[in-house]
Amino acid sequence: MLIIPCPYCGPRDEIEFACGGEAHIARPLAKNTITDAEFADYLFIRDNPKGVFLERWCHSAGCRRWFNVARDTVTHEIIEVYQMGSTPKKAISKTSYSSSWRRNTMAEKAAKPYKRSKSGRVK
Ligand SMILES: [Zn+2]
Repeated sequence: MLIIPCPYCGPRDEIEFACGGEAHIARPLAKNTITDAEFADYLFIRDNPKGVFLERWCHSAGCRRWFNVARDTVTHEIIEVYQMGSTPKKAISKTSYSSSWRRNTMAEKAAKPYKRSKSGRVK
């Protein structure tokens, strides 16, 4: 049984939580140019690493809020807990985040907002 430190309620038993799978999967914007295969990568392909894994968790039997957890899948050690919309702070978690193949996908690039020039054209 894991003891998960909810950032809003404190440490609680794993049974109070629901795992939402891999964290930091950027959704492509509605207007984009990625192919069906690239979209399928975004939709279906998930990591299953041996080592540090960044996951989303929901305190479903508590505050019902979502947050991110960096967890070692071998030892089940929870390395850090951090809020949705932010990135990990500890070095080992940062490495896991930045070295993920997902940082270089077309879906990740298509999730970034479009830049507009001064004339209003979309770049
Ligand atoms: Zn909570």
